[in-house]
Amino acid sequence: MILYVDINDLCHLRCPTCPRGVRDIPNTAAVMPLGLFERIVEKAIDDGAYQIDLFDWTEPFLNPHLYQYVKAVREHGLPCGVNSTLSIKKIKNFEAALEHINYLLVTLSGVSQSIYEINHSGGRIDFVLSNLEIIASLRRQGKPIPLTTVRFLLFDYNRHEVPNFEKTVQDLGFSCQVLIGSGNPLTKPANPNLTNADITSFGSERGNIRRRLSDFSPAAVNQTNQNICPLLFEHITVNAKGDVYQCSAYGRHPELRIGPYLELSREEILYRRFTHPICSSCTWSRRPPIAHERLALKQAFASHMGEAISDRVKRLSVPLGYIPKNEDGFQTPKPLDGAIPLDPDQFVFSTEDGFLKPIGPAALALEDANLKLAKLDAERGAAIAEFNRIKLECEALRRSTSWRVTAPLRWIRRQLSKPHTLAQEVVDASEPWKNSLSSGSS
Ligand code: SF4
Repeated sequence: MILYVDINDLCHLRCPTCPRGVRDIPNTAAVMPLGLFERIVEKAIDDGAYQIDLFDWTEPFLNPHLYQYVKAVREHGLPCGVNSTLSIKKIKNFEAALEHINYLLVTLSGVSQSIYEINHSGGRIDFVLSNLEIIASLRRQGKPIPLTTVRFLLFDYNRHEVPNFEKTVQDLGFSCQVLIGSGNPLTKPANPNLTNADITSFGSERGNIRRRLSDFSPAAVNQTNQNICPLLFEHITVNAKGDVYQCSAYGRHPELRIGPYLELSREEILYRRFTHPICSSCTWSRRPPIAHERLALKQAFASHMGEAISDRVKRLSVPLGYIPKNEDGFQTPKPLDGAIPLDPDQFVFSTEDGFLKPIGPAALALEDANLKLAKLDAERGAAIAEFNRIKLECEALRRSTSWRVTAPLRWIRRQLSKPHTLAQEVVDASEPWKNSLSSGSS
């Protein structure tokens, strides 16, 4: 599983589609102490985490010491991911953090200010683009930077900006994604002044959760046909105080608090999350469990009843999923109902390192295709970076006033303007060779 940790407890933007943005989850000054964070990372490794991501419902770059947390994750041997809007004028210790982050996901919802600020209320697209340019420039200088992906949150009103978004991001040499956004910022304007009455009403996420919990009825159970919610296995989320919450599908509301991460075994966390009453009324997609998930659940219940566990499942999940997309190629927020991301016949759960190994032909083909895609993606990024570098060099030459540069440039321009150019000379020189080919001689 991935452990999501919030190392601070605030975001400066007011996105109307986000419970943090409308302050349904209030901003606080809480910051996770580095010592506590390191103990959490150590437990996560013991719990089988394969990655630690430093965000869930916050803007991690608002913490000027982010680089120390990222470094701590890397020193413990795990990769580290960060999600951000990058909508910050000057990010303190930006380069130091970039040096250690493995995966950076930047989310925006427009490339013009007037469109961007509809959802990213209070944000500035010029800050985002200038921070992306800093990353691109560090790469041009050969400095270490994260694998950077820029994600466009798609709503009806911003669809026309997708081509411009893709061009802008590709010119910078980064990968891009288009994800269908949840909610609608036009019909749900930012509300910075939620009152307690709002919070208990249907208008806020927390109000909705409270209503669903108070209306709880076994008849409304969505957990049918022995299906499970994959989020229970894919991640554990921890806030800046070190407390686990139900899942990343909902904000950190008191009703969804599971307990202190360091004081609960992984089995007890899974037991409490699996039996949480909010799941019964949740529409997140379910699917049949695969073998090791059944075993992990069995162990969670046994542990809760005080029984000893032998052959503890090493990892709750591994990074071998798929990205659900619609017919336009846009990513959908969640998998289709009943979809099984991993076919148990195609994978074997390795007892050596706890990872799933592909064994069936479909899984091997998928792994092969993923490797080829990753290679192509890297080559594309490198080619774009090289093209941009050459473009900058040409531009510098063109602007130079040194005669050592201008004289040969003038000569090249003269040659190119002649009807009989250098290129023509090359063509002429190849004529005898072409003739010998057409006459069949070697
Ligand atoms: S069913 Fe819903 S509430 Fe429960 S873990 Fe899944 S997404 Fe979260």
